[in-house]
Amino acid sequence: MLNGVNASDGIGIGKAVVAIEPDLSYKSEAHDDPEAERERYSKALEDFCARTQKQADRMAVTVGEEEAQIMVGHITMAQDPFMMDEVGQRIDAGMGAEQAVDEACEMFFGMFASMDDPLMRERAADVKDIRTGLLANLLDKEVIDLSALKKDSIVVVHDLTPSMTATIDKDHVVGIVTETGGRTSHSAIIARALEIPAVLSVADALKQISQGDVCVVDGTKGHVCVNPEKDELKEFKKVAKAAAEAKAALNVFKGKPTVTGDAEKRLLLANIGTPEEATSASEHDAEGVGLFRSEFLFMDTSSLPSENEQFVAYQKVALRMKDQPVIIRTLDVGGDKEIPYLGLTKEENPFMGNRAVRYCLAHPDKYKVQLRALLRASAFGDIKIMVPLVTCVEEIRDVKDLVDECKKELKKEGVKFNDDIQVGAMMETPAASLIADDLAAECDFFSIGTNDLIGYTMCVDRGNDAVSYLYSVYSPAVLRSIKRIIKAGNDAGIMVGMCGESAADPLLIPLLLSFGLNEFSVTPPAILQTRKIISEWTKKDADKLAEKVMGLTTAAEVKNALSKAVK
Ligand code: PEP
Ligand code: MG
Repeated sequence: MLNGVNASDGIGIGKAVVAIEPDLSYKSEAHDDPEAERERYSKALEDFCARTQKQADRMAVTVGEEEAQIMVGHITMAQDPFMMDEVGQRIDAGMGAEQAVDEACEMFFGMFASMDDPLMRERAADVKDIRTGLLANLLDKEVIDLSALKKDSIVVVHDLTPSMTATIDKDHVVGIVTETGGRTSHSAIIARALEIPAVLSVADALKQISQGDVCVVDGTKGHVCVNPEKDELKEFKKVAKAAAEAKAALNVFKGKPTVTGDAEKRLLLANIGTPEEATSASEHDAEGVGLFRSEFLFMDTSSLPSENEQFVAYQKVALRMKDQPVIIRTLDVGGDKEIPYLGLTKEENPFMGNRAVRYCLAHPDKYKVQLRALLRASAFGDIKIMVPLVTCVEEIRDVKDLVDECKKELKKEGVKFNDDIQVGAMMETPAASLIADDLAAECDFFSIGTNDLIGYTMCVDRGNDAVSYLYSVYSPAVLRSIKRIIKAGNDAGIMVGMCGESAADPLLIPLLLSFGLNEFSVTPPAILQTRKIISEWTKKDADKLAEKVMGLTTAAEVKNALSKAVK
Protein backbone atom coordinates (compact mmCIF):
# COMPACT_ATOMS: atom_id res chain seq x y z
CA MET A 1 0.00 0.00 0.00
CA LEU A 2 1.39 3.44 -0.96
CA ASN A 3 0.47 6.48 1.08
CA GLY A 4 0.04 10.11 0.09
CA VAL A 5 -2.09 13.21 0.55
CA ASN A 6 -5.85 12.57 0.34
CA ALA A 7 -6.67 15.31 -2.15
CA SER A 8 -9.99 14.31 -3.68
CA ASP A 9 -12.51 11.91 -2.13
CA GLY A 10 -13.70 8.57 -3.47
CA ILE A 11 -12.35 5.20 -4.58
CA GLY A 12 -11.19 4.67 -8.17
CA ILE A 13 -10.21 1.28 -9.55
CA GLY A 14 -8.48 0.97 -12.92
CA LYS A 15 -5.29 0.43 -14.89
CA ALA A 16 -2.28 2.69 -14.48
CA VAL A 17 -1.32 5.01 -17.28
CA VAL A 18 2.13 6.17 -16.27
CA ALA A 19 2.71 9.48 -17.99
CA ILE A 20 6.40 10.23 -18.42
CA GLU A 21 7.27 13.82 -19.11
CA PRO A 22 9.17 14.56 -22.36
CA ASP A 23 12.95 14.90 -22.28
CA LEU A 24 13.47 18.64 -22.41
CA SER A 25 17.26 18.68 -22.21
CA TYR A 26 19.09 21.04 -24.58
CA LYS A 27 22.66 22.16 -25.26
CA SER A 28 23.64 25.39 -23.48
CA GLU A 29 25.88 26.93 -26.09
CA ALA A 30 26.51 30.55 -27.07
CA HIS A 31 24.44 31.96 -29.94
CA ASP A 32 25.47 34.84 -32.12
CA ASP A 33 22.12 35.60 -33.75
CA PRO A 34 19.87 37.05 -31.01
CA GLU A 35 17.36 38.15 -33.66
CA ALA A 36 16.82 34.54 -34.79
CA GLU A 37 16.61 33.28 -31.17
CA ARG A 38 14.10 36.02 -30.31
CA GLU A 39 12.02 34.94 -33.28
CA ARG A 40 12.10 31.28 -32.16
CA TYR A 41 11.05 32.39 -28.68
CA SER A 42 8.19 34.53 -30.06
CA LYS A 43 6.91 31.65 -32.16
CA ALA A 44 7.15 29.22 -29.22
CA LEU A 45 5.30 31.73 -27.03
CA GLU A 46 2.61 32.31 -29.63
CA ASP A 47 2.02 28.55 -30.06
CA PHE A 48 2.03 28.09 -26.28
CA CYS A 49 -0.63 30.78 -25.83
CA ALA A 50 -2.78 29.40 -28.65
CA ARG A 51 -2.60 25.86 -27.23
CA THR A 52 -3.25 27.06 -23.69
CA GLN A 53 -6.26 29.14 -24.79
CA LYS A 54 -7.70 26.04 -26.46
CA GLN A 55 -7.16 24.11 -23.23
CA ALA A 56 -8.83 26.91 -21.25
CA ASP A 57 -11.84 26.86 -23.57
CA ARG A 58 -12.11 23.10 -23.24
CA MET A 59 -11.69 23.30 -19.49
CA ALA A 60 -14.43 25.93 -19.17
CA VAL A 61 -16.84 23.31 -20.55
CA THR A 62 -15.48 20.13 -18.94
CA VAL A 63 -14.39 21.44 -15.53
CA GLY A 64 -15.64 24.95 -14.94
CA GLU A 65 -15.09 28.61 -15.68
CA GLU A 66 -13.09 29.19 -12.52
CA GLU A 67 -10.63 26.37 -13.22
CA ALA A 68 -10.28 27.56 -16.83
CA GLN A 69 -9.01 30.82 -15.39
CA ILE A 70 -5.92 28.93 -14.14
CA MET A 71 -5.00 28.29 -17.78
CA VAL A 72 -5.78 31.87 -18.76
CA GLY A 73 -3.46 32.84 -15.90
CA HIS A 74 -0.67 30.88 -17.62
CA ILE A 75 -1.08 32.95 -20.76
CA THR A 76 -1.02 36.16 -18.71
CA MET A 77 2.05 35.00 -16.81
CA ALA A 78 3.92 33.84 -19.96
CA GLN A 79 3.16 37.15 -21.67
CA ASP A 80 3.99 39.23 -18.62
CA PRO A 81 6.35 42.03 -19.76
CA PHE A 82 8.64 41.28 -16.79
CA MET A 83 8.90 37.61 -17.75
CA MET A 84 9.36 38.40 -21.48
CA ASP A 85 11.98 40.97 -20.64
CA GLU A 86 13.93 38.47 -18.51
CA VAL A 87 13.98 36.02 -21.45
CA GLY A 88 14.81 38.77 -23.99
CA GLN A 89 17.74 40.08 -21.96
CA ARG A 90 19.26 36.62 -21.75
CA ILE A 91 18.89 36.09 -25.50
CA ASP A 92 20.55 39.46 -26.13
CA ALA A 93 23.41 38.35 -23.88
CA GLY A 94 24.05 35.42 -26.23
CA MET A 95 21.94 32.58 -24.85
CA GLY A 96 19.85 30.27 -26.99
CA ALA A 97 16.07 30.61 -26.62
CA GLU A 98 15.87 27.32 -24.66
CA GLN A 99 18.40 28.39 -22.05
CA ALA A 100 16.94 31.90 -21.80
CA VAL A 101 13.43 30.51 -21.16
CA ASP A 102 14.76 27.90 -18.76
CA GLU A 103 16.78 30.36 -16.68
CA ALA A 104 14.08 33.05 -16.59
CA CYS A 105 11.48 30.45 -15.49
CA GLU A 106 13.91 29.10 -12.90
CA MET A 107 14.23 32.61 -11.48
CA PHE A 108 10.44 33.07 -11.23
CA PHE A 109 10.06 29.55 -9.87
CA GLY A 110 12.54 30.30 -7.08
CA MET A 111 10.78 33.56 -6.32
CA PHE A 112 7.34 31.94 -5.91
CA ALA A 113 8.66 28.79 -4.21
CA SER A 114 10.28 30.84 -1.44
CA MET A 115 7.13 32.79 -0.54
CA ASP A 116 5.55 32.17 2.86
CA ASP A 117 1.99 32.12 1.60
CA PRO A 118 1.11 28.57 0.49
CA LEU A 119 -1.15 29.87 -2.28
CA MET A 120 1.63 32.01 -3.74
CA ARG A 121 3.99 29.03 -3.45
CA GLU A 122 1.59 27.04 -5.60
CA ARG A 123 2.20 29.61 -8.39
CA ALA A 124 5.64 27.99 -8.73
CA ALA A 125 3.86 24.97 -10.26
CA ASP A 126 2.35 27.29 -12.86
CA VAL A 127 5.80 28.60 -13.79
CA LYS A 128 7.00 25.01 -14.23
CA ASP A 129 4.10 24.35 -16.52
CA ILE A 130 4.94 27.40 -18.64
CA ARG A 131 8.59 26.29 -18.81
CA THR A 132 7.58 22.80 -20.01
CA GLY A 133 5.21 24.22 -22.61
CA LEU A 134 7.70 26.71 -24.02
CA LEU A 135 10.66 24.29 -24.01
CA ALA A 136 8.59 21.54 -25.64
CA ASN A 137 7.67 23.98 -28.42
CA LEU A 138 11.26 25.08 -28.89
CA LEU A 139 12.54 21.48 -28.93
CA ASP A 140 9.64 20.24 -31.01
CA LYS A 141 8.57 17.69 -28.36
CA GLU A 142 5.05 16.52 -27.52
CA VAL A 143 3.65 17.52 -24.11
CA ILE A 144 1.66 14.93 -22.14
CA ASP A 145 -1.86 14.66 -23.51
CA LEU A 146 -4.43 13.02 -21.27
CA SER A 147 -7.36 13.60 -23.59
CA ALA A 148 -7.45 10.19 -25.28
CA LEU A 149 -7.21 7.59 -22.53
CA LYS A 150 -8.96 4.25 -22.28
CA LYS A 151 -11.92 3.79 -19.93
CA ASP A 152 -11.03 3.30 -16.24
CA SER A 153 -7.55 4.83 -16.44
CA ILE A 154 -5.57 5.79 -13.37
CA VAL A 155 -3.22 8.62 -14.28
CA VAL A 156 0.17 8.31 -12.59
CA VAL A 157 2.41 11.29 -13.11
CA HIS A 158 5.21 13.10 -11.32
CA ASP A 159 3.28 16.36 -11.13
CA LEU A 160 -0.18 16.83 -12.55
CA THR A 161 0.19 20.28 -14.00
CA PRO A 162 -2.82 22.46 -14.67
CA SER A 163 -2.32 22.10 -18.42
CA MET A 164 -2.34 18.30 -18.15
CA THR A 165 -5.47 18.45 -16.05
CA ALA A 166 -7.07 20.62 -18.71
CA THR A 167 -6.78 17.81 -21.21
CA ILE A 168 -7.98 15.08 -18.87
CA ASP A 169 -10.92 13.11 -20.12
CA LYS A 170 -13.09 13.04 -17.05
CA ASP A 171 -15.27 10.16 -18.28
CA HIS A 172 -12.29 7.85 -18.68
CA VAL A 173 -10.04 8.78 -15.75
CA VAL A 174 -11.09 7.18 -12.46
CA GLY A 175 -8.09 8.11 -10.33
CA ILE A 176 -5.04 10.34 -10.11
CA VAL A 177 -1.71 9.62 -8.40
CA THR A 178 1.14 12.12 -8.29
CA GLU A 179 4.55 12.43 -6.65
CA THR A 180 4.06 16.08 -5.64
CA GLY A 181 1.35 18.55 -4.54
CA GLY A 182 -0.71 19.25 -1.45
CA ARG A 183 -4.40 19.75 -0.74
CA THR A 184 -4.31 23.37 -1.89
CA SER A 185 -2.40 22.67 -5.12
CA HIS A 186 -4.16 23.33 -8.38
CA SER A 187 -4.13 19.61 -9.18
CA ALA A 188 -6.04 18.98 -5.96
CA ILE A 189 -8.53 21.76 -6.61
CA ILE A 190 -9.18 20.57 -10.14
CA ALA A 191 -9.38 16.89 -9.15
CA ARG A 192 -12.03 17.83 -6.58
CA ALA A 193 -13.91 19.93 -9.12
CA LEU A 194 -13.85 16.96 -11.53
CA GLU A 195 -14.81 14.66 -8.63
CA ILE A 196 -11.96 12.25 -9.54
CA PRO A 197 -10.39 10.44 -6.55
CA ALA A 198 -6.80 11.65 -6.13
CA VAL A 199 -3.82 10.83 -3.92
CA LEU A 200 -0.94 13.28 -4.22
CA SER A 201 2.67 13.33 -3.02
CA VAL A 202 3.13 9.55 -3.19
CA ALA A 203 6.89 9.03 -2.87
CA ASP A 204 8.44 7.41 -5.97
CA ALA A 205 5.03 6.66 -7.48
CA LEU A 206 6.57 6.44 -10.95
CA LYS A 207 9.00 3.75 -9.76
CA GLN A 208 6.46 1.85 -7.70
CA ILE A 209 3.72 1.76 -10.33
CA SER A 210 4.21 0.36 -13.83
CA GLN A 211 2.23 0.85 -17.00
CA GLY A 212 -0.94 -1.27 -16.88
CA ASP A 213 -0.75 -2.14 -13.16
CA VAL A 214 -4.15 -2.50 -11.54
CA CYS A 215 -4.46 0.31 -8.98
CA VAL A 216 -6.98 1.21 -6.34
CA VAL A 217 -6.88 4.93 -5.52
CA ASP A 218 -8.55 5.74 -2.23
CA GLY A 219 -8.69 9.54 -2.35
CA THR A 220 -10.55 9.72 0.95
CA LYS A 221 -7.90 7.92 2.97
CA GLY A 222 -4.87 8.85 0.82
CA HIS A 223 -3.93 5.24 -0.04
CA VAL A 224 -2.99 3.60 -3.33
CA CYS A 225 -3.03 -0.18 -3.59
CA VAL A 226 -1.02 -1.57 -6.53
CA ASN A 227 -1.92 -4.96 -8.03
CA PRO A 228 -4.07 -6.04 -5.09
CA GLU A 229 -4.72 -9.74 -4.43
CA LYS A 230 -7.95 -11.10 -5.88
CA ASP A 231 -9.73 -11.04 -2.53
CA GLU A 232 -8.50 -7.54 -1.74
CA LEU A 233 -9.67 -6.26 -5.11
CA LYS A 234 -13.06 -7.84 -4.56
CA GLU A 235 -13.32 -6.05 -1.22
CA PHE A 236 -12.27 -2.68 -2.74
CA LYS A 237 -14.82 -3.12 -5.51
CA LYS A 238 -17.49 -3.79 -2.91
CA VAL A 239 -16.56 -0.62 -0.98
CA ALA A 240 -16.41 1.47 -4.20
CA LYS A 241 -19.78 0.11 -5.32
CA ALA A 242 -21.34 0.85 -1.95
CA ALA A 243 -19.90 4.39 -2.02
CA ALA A 244 -21.22 5.00 -5.55
CA GLU A 245 -24.63 3.62 -4.58
CA ALA A 246 -24.73 5.74 -1.44
CA LYS A 247 -23.89 8.83 -3.52
CA ALA A 248 -26.55 8.01 -6.10
CA ALA A 249 -29.09 7.31 -3.36
CA LEU A 250 -28.60 10.83 -2.06
CA ASN A 251 -30.21 12.17 -5.23
CA VAL A 252 -33.64 11.55 -3.70
CA PHE A 253 -32.83 14.50 -1.42
CA LYS A 254 -32.34 16.83 -4.39
CA GLY A 255 -34.97 19.54 -4.55
CA LYS A 256 -36.32 18.53 -1.14
CA PRO A 257 -36.53 20.92 1.80
CA THR A 258 -34.08 20.42 4.65
CA VAL A 259 -36.17 19.16 7.54
CA THR A 260 -35.54 17.12 10.67
CA GLY A 261 -37.23 13.80 11.36
CA ASP A 262 -40.07 15.75 13.00
CA ALA A 263 -40.46 18.15 10.07
CA GLU A 264 -38.63 21.13 11.57
CA LYS A 265 -37.06 23.31 8.90
CA ARG A 266 -33.30 23.91 8.91
CA LEU A 267 -31.32 26.05 6.50
CA LEU A 268 -28.67 24.21 4.43
CA LEU A 269 -26.17 26.56 2.79
CA ALA A 270 -22.84 26.23 1.00
CA ASN A 271 -19.29 27.38 1.71
CA ILE A 272 -17.66 28.92 -1.33
CA GLY A 273 -14.32 30.60 -2.04
CA THR A 274 -14.92 32.28 -5.39
CA PRO A 275 -17.95 33.82 -7.11
CA GLU A 276 -17.89 31.00 -9.69
CA GLU A 277 -18.37 28.38 -6.97
CA ALA A 278 -21.85 29.80 -6.40
CA THR A 279 -22.83 27.85 -9.52
CA SER A 280 -21.55 24.63 -7.96
CA ALA A 281 -23.45 25.52 -4.77
CA SER A 282 -26.71 25.84 -6.73
CA GLU A 283 -26.04 22.68 -8.72
CA HIS A 284 -25.54 20.78 -5.49
CA ASP A 285 -28.89 22.16 -4.26
CA ALA A 286 -27.67 24.62 -1.63
CA GLU A 287 -30.32 26.95 -0.21
CA GLY A 288 -27.90 29.87 -0.25
CA VAL A 289 -24.33 30.67 0.68
CA GLY A 290 -23.39 30.42 4.36
CA LEU A 291 -19.76 31.44 3.94
CA PHE A 292 -18.12 33.22 1.04
CA ARG A 293 -14.43 33.40 1.99
CA SER A 294 -13.83 36.78 0.38
CA GLU A 295 -10.06 36.72 0.91
CA PHE A 296 -9.60 34.65 -2.23
CA LEU A 297 -10.50 37.80 -4.18
CA PHE A 298 -7.59 39.49 -2.46
CA MET A 299 -5.14 36.61 -2.88
CA ASP A 300 -5.18 36.25 -6.65
CA THR A 301 -4.06 39.80 -7.38
CA SER A 302 -1.00 41.90 -6.69
CA SER A 303 -2.89 44.91 -5.29
CA LEU A 304 -6.04 45.62 -3.31
CA PRO A 305 -9.08 44.85 -5.50
CA SER A 306 -10.99 48.06 -6.21
CA GLU A 307 -14.50 48.74 -4.88
CA ASN A 308 -15.87 48.04 -8.31
CA GLU A 309 -13.97 44.76 -8.75
CA GLN A 310 -15.26 43.61 -5.39
CA PHE A 311 -18.78 44.83 -6.13
CA VAL A 312 -18.86 42.83 -9.38
CA ALA A 313 -17.76 39.66 -7.53
CA TYR A 314 -20.32 40.04 -4.71
CA GLN A 315 -23.08 41.03 -7.12
CA LYS A 316 -22.34 37.92 -9.20
CA VAL A 317 -22.95 35.67 -6.18
CA ALA A 318 -26.05 37.62 -5.15
CA LEU A 319 -27.57 37.36 -8.63
CA ARG A 320 -26.64 33.67 -8.95
CA MET A 321 -28.33 32.80 -5.64
CA LYS A 322 -31.39 34.95 -6.50
CA ASP A 323 -33.20 35.81 -3.24
CA GLN A 324 -31.45 33.12 -1.19
CA PRO A 325 -29.21 34.30 1.67
CA VAL A 326 -25.55 35.01 0.85
CA ILE A 327 -23.28 35.46 3.87
CA ILE A 328 -20.05 37.15 2.85
CA ARG A 329 -17.20 37.10 5.33
CA THR A 330 -15.14 40.26 5.27
CA LEU A 331 -11.40 39.97 4.72
CA ASP A 332 -9.92 37.28 6.97
CA VAL A 333 -6.28 38.07 6.34
CA GLY A 334 -3.41 36.86 8.54
CA GLY A 335 -2.76 33.59 10.34
CA ASP A 336 -2.46 31.05 7.55
CA LYS A 337 -3.81 33.54 5.01
CA GLU A 338 -1.09 35.92 3.95
CA ILE A 339 -1.54 38.62 1.32
CA PRO A 340 1.87 40.10 0.46
CA TYR A 341 0.79 43.53 -0.83
CA LEU A 342 -1.09 44.31 2.40
CA GLY A 343 2.30 44.68 4.04
CA LEU A 344 1.56 42.76 7.23
CA THR A 345 4.55 42.84 9.54
CA LYS A 346 6.11 39.47 10.42
CA GLU A 347 4.79 38.38 13.79
CA GLU A 348 6.06 35.86 16.28
CA ASN A 349 2.62 34.28 16.45
CA PRO A 350 0.50 35.36 13.47
CA PHE A 351 -2.55 33.35 14.57
CA MET A 352 -2.78 35.55 17.65
CA GLY A 353 -1.71 38.68 15.84
CA ASN A 354 -2.96 41.56 13.77
CA ARG A 355 -5.34 39.60 11.60
CA ALA A 356 -8.93 39.42 10.30
CA VAL A 357 -11.22 42.08 11.83
CA ARG A 358 -8.30 43.49 13.83
CA TYR A 359 -6.38 44.29 10.66
CA CYS A 360 -9.50 45.65 8.95
CA LEU A 361 -10.40 47.97 11.82
CA ALA A 362 -6.81 49.20 11.95
CA HIS A 363 -7.09 50.07 8.22
CA PRO A 364 -10.58 51.57 7.94
CA ASP A 365 -9.90 53.07 4.51
CA LYS A 366 -9.17 49.64 3.06
CA TYR A 367 -12.04 48.03 4.99
CA LYS A 368 -14.53 50.64 3.82
CA VAL A 369 -13.76 49.72 0.19
CA GLN A 370 -15.03 46.22 0.96
CA LEU A 371 -18.01 47.39 3.03
CA ARG A 372 -19.12 49.82 0.31
CA ALA A 373 -18.82 47.06 -2.30
CA LEU A 374 -20.90 44.72 -0.09
CA LEU A 375 -23.56 47.38 0.48
CA ARG A 376 -23.79 48.15 -3.24
CA ALA A 377 -24.15 44.42 -4.02
CA SER A 378 -26.86 44.11 -1.35
CA ALA A 379 -29.23 45.88 -3.76
CA PHE A 380 -29.10 42.71 -5.89
CA GLY A 381 -29.78 39.95 -3.37
CA ASP A 382 -29.94 38.93 0.27
CA ILE A 383 -26.32 39.73 1.20
CA LYS A 384 -25.30 39.58 4.87
CA ILE A 385 -21.99 40.79 6.28
CA MET A 386 -20.02 38.41 8.51
CA VAL A 387 -17.13 39.57 10.69
CA PRO A 388 -14.31 37.05 11.31
CA LEU A 389 -12.33 36.45 14.50
CA VAL A 390 -14.52 38.54 16.78
CA THR A 391 -13.30 38.59 20.39
CA CYS A 392 -15.14 41.57 21.91
CA VAL A 393 -18.28 43.65 21.57
CA GLU A 394 -16.36 46.78 20.50
CA GLU A 395 -15.27 45.07 17.28
CA ILE A 396 -18.85 44.48 16.18
CA ARG A 397 -19.84 48.02 17.20
CA ASP A 398 -16.90 49.48 15.27
CA VAL A 399 -17.74 47.47 12.16
CA LYS A 400 -21.37 48.58 12.39
CA ASP A 401 -20.24 52.21 12.74
CA LEU A 402 -18.16 51.86 9.56
CA VAL A 403 -21.12 50.23 7.79
CA ASP A 404 -23.26 53.22 8.83
CA GLU A 405 -20.62 55.62 7.56
CA CYS A 406 -20.58 53.81 4.20
CA LYS A 407 -24.40 53.87 4.07
CA LYS A 408 -24.39 57.65 4.57
CA GLU A 409 -21.84 58.11 1.78
CA LEU A 410 -23.76 55.88 -0.62
CA LYS A 411 -27.05 57.65 0.19
CA LYS A 412 -25.41 60.96 -0.61
CA GLU A 413 -24.12 59.53 -3.88
CA GLY A 414 -27.60 58.23 -4.71
CA VAL A 415 -26.41 54.61 -4.82
CA LYS A 416 -28.92 51.88 -3.95
CA PHE A 417 -28.30 49.35 -1.15
CA ASN A 418 -30.23 47.33 1.43
CA ASP A 419 -30.61 49.61 4.42
CA ASP A 420 -31.50 46.59 6.60
CA ILE A 421 -28.41 44.59 5.69
CA GLN A 422 -27.58 42.15 8.49
CA VAL A 423 -24.23 42.15 10.27
CA GLY A 424 -23.19 39.00 12.12
CA ALA A 425 -20.22 37.53 13.93
CA MET A 426 -18.18 34.51 13.13
CA MET A 427 -17.96 32.66 16.43
CA GLU A 428 -14.52 31.11 16.34
CA THR A 429 -12.72 32.26 19.48
CA PRO A 430 -13.14 31.22 23.11
CA ALA A 431 -13.63 34.91 23.97
CA ALA A 432 -16.60 35.19 21.61
CA SER A 433 -18.07 32.04 23.10
CA LEU A 434 -17.73 33.34 26.66
CA ILE A 435 -19.47 36.63 25.82
CA ALA A 436 -21.90 35.10 23.33
CA ASP A 437 -24.88 36.64 25.16
CA ASP A 438 -23.43 40.16 24.89
CA LEU A 439 -22.48 39.63 21.27
CA ALA A 440 -25.94 38.26 20.47
CA ALA A 441 -27.40 41.59 21.61
CA GLU A 442 -25.27 43.37 18.99
CA CYS A 443 -25.45 40.89 16.10
CA ASP A 444 -28.09 39.90 13.57
CA PHE A 445 -26.72 36.36 13.36
CA PHE A 446 -23.93 34.04 14.45
CA SER A 447 -21.99 31.52 12.42
CA ILE A 448 -19.76 29.12 14.31
CA GLY A 449 -16.33 28.63 12.73
CA THR A 450 -15.33 25.32 14.23
CA ASN A 451 -12.08 25.12 12.24
CA ASP A 452 -10.65 27.93 14.33
CA LEU A 453 -12.82 27.48 17.41
CA ILE A 454 -11.35 24.00 17.95
CA GLY A 455 -7.81 25.31 17.45
CA TYR A 456 -8.15 28.31 19.75
CA THR A 457 -10.10 26.40 22.39
CA MET A 458 -7.63 23.53 22.54
CA CYS A 459 -4.57 25.77 21.96
CA VAL A 460 -3.63 23.70 18.93
CA ASP A 461 -2.21 25.09 15.73
CA ARG A 462 -4.46 23.83 12.91
CA GLY A 463 -1.46 22.57 10.93
CA ASN A 464 0.74 21.09 13.66
CA ASP A 465 0.83 17.29 13.39
CA ALA A 466 2.56 16.84 16.75
CA VAL A 467 -0.50 18.09 18.66
CA SER A 468 -3.21 17.21 16.18
CA TYR A 469 -4.52 14.50 18.53
CA LEU A 470 -5.98 17.35 20.60
CA TYR A 471 -7.67 18.99 17.63
CA SER A 472 -11.10 17.40 17.93
CA VAL A 473 -14.61 18.77 17.73
CA TYR A 474 -15.62 15.92 20.07
CA SER A 475 -13.53 17.31 22.88
CA PRO A 476 -15.91 18.21 25.73
CA ALA A 477 -14.46 21.75 25.93
CA VAL A 478 -15.31 22.41 22.28
CA LEU A 479 -18.77 20.85 22.54
CA ARG A 480 -19.65 22.94 25.60
CA SER A 481 -18.46 26.04 23.77
CA ILE A 482 -20.61 25.25 20.74
CA LYS A 483 -23.61 24.55 22.97
CA ARG A 484 -23.33 27.88 24.83
CA ILE A 485 -22.95 29.87 21.58
CA ILE A 486 -26.08 28.28 20.13
CA LYS A 487 -28.02 28.83 23.35
CA ALA A 488 -27.02 32.51 23.52
CA GLY A 489 -28.09 33.02 19.92
CA ASN A 490 -31.37 31.15 20.42
CA ASP A 491 -32.15 33.10 23.61
CA ALA A 492 -31.63 36.38 21.74
CA GLY A 493 -33.76 35.15 18.82
CA ILE A 494 -31.03 35.46 16.19
CA MET A 495 -30.07 32.87 13.60
CA VAL A 496 -27.20 30.61 14.62
CA GLY A 497 -25.35 28.76 11.90
CA MET A 498 -22.15 26.78 11.57
CA CYS A 499 -19.76 27.14 8.66
CA GLY A 500 -16.73 25.20 9.97
CA GLU A 501 -16.09 21.73 8.52
CA SER A 502 -17.88 20.14 11.51
CA ALA A 503 -21.27 21.28 10.16
CA ALA A 504 -21.05 18.37 7.70
CA ASP A 505 -19.86 15.84 10.27
CA PRO A 506 -22.44 13.02 10.26
CA LEU A 507 -21.61 12.14 13.88
CA LEU A 508 -22.03 15.69 15.14
CA ILE A 509 -25.24 16.66 13.33
CA PRO A 510 -27.65 15.16 15.94
CA LEU A 511 -25.87 17.10 18.70
CA LEU A 512 -26.11 20.32 16.69
CA LEU A 513 -29.82 19.69 16.15
CA SER A 514 -30.34 19.11 19.84
CA PHE A 515 -28.42 22.29 20.74
CA GLY A 516 -30.73 24.24 18.40
CA LEU A 517 -28.51 25.08 15.40
CA ASN A 518 -30.65 26.79 12.72
CA GLU A 519 -28.30 26.78 9.76
CA PHE A 520 -25.65 24.37 8.40
CA SER A 521 -23.12 25.62 5.86
CA VAL A 522 -21.04 22.92 4.18
CA THR A 523 -18.97 22.37 1.02
CA PRO A 524 -21.24 21.88 -2.02
CA PRO A 525 -20.58 18.12 -2.45
CA ALA A 526 -21.63 17.56 1.21
CA ILE A 527 -25.06 19.21 0.84
CA LEU A 528 -27.23 16.18 0.09
CA GLN A 529 -25.56 13.93 2.66
CA THR A 530 -26.07 16.63 5.32
CA ARG A 531 -29.74 17.00 4.33
CA LYS A 532 -30.14 13.23 4.64
CA ILE A 533 -28.66 13.08 8.12
CA ILE A 534 -30.70 16.03 9.35
CA SER A 535 -33.82 14.19 8.12
CA GLU A 536 -32.94 11.14 10.22
CA TRP A 537 -33.16 12.83 13.61
CA THR A 538 -36.15 13.93 15.67
CA LYS A 539 -35.62 16.47 18.44
CA LYS A 540 -36.50 13.85 21.02
CA ASP A 541 -33.89 11.34 19.79
CA ALA A 542 -31.23 14.03 19.33
CA ASP A 543 -31.87 15.36 22.86
CA LYS A 544 -31.58 11.88 24.31
CA LEU A 545 -28.22 11.39 22.61
CA ALA A 546 -27.01 14.86 23.61
CA GLU A 547 -27.88 14.25 27.24
CA LYS A 548 -25.81 11.09 27.25
CA VAL A 549 -22.87 12.53 25.31
CA MET A 550 -22.58 15.81 27.19
CA GLY A 551 -22.04 13.82 30.38
CA LEU A 552 -18.92 12.17 28.97
CA THR A 553 -15.48 13.51 29.79
CA THR A 554 -13.16 12.55 26.92
CA ALA A 555 -13.21 13.15 23.15
CA ALA A 556 -12.72 9.42 22.55
CA GLU A 557 -15.77 8.50 24.64
CA VAL A 558 -17.85 11.15 22.88
CA LYS A 559 -16.81 9.97 19.44
CA ASN A 560 -17.47 6.39 20.36
CA ALA A 561 -20.96 7.16 21.67
CA LEU A 562 -21.81 9.27 18.59
CA SER A 563 -20.51 6.55 16.23
CA LYS A 564 -22.76 3.98 17.87
CA ALA A 565 -25.77 6.27 17.42
CA VAL A 566 -25.34 6.62 13.62
CA LYS A 567 -28.65 5.71 11.94
C1 PEP B 1 -13.57 28.34 10.54
O1 PEP B 1 -12.63 28.85 11.16
O2 PEP B 1 -14.28 27.43 10.97
C2 PEP B 1 -13.89 28.80 9.17
C3 PEP B 1 -14.97 28.39 8.55
O3 PEP B 1 -13.06 29.67 8.56
P1 PEP B 1 -11.62 29.36 7.97
O4 PEP B 1 -11.51 27.86 7.83
O5 PEP B 1 -11.59 30.08 6.67
O6 PEP B 1 -10.71 29.95 8.98
MG1 MG C 1 -11.74 30.78 10.73
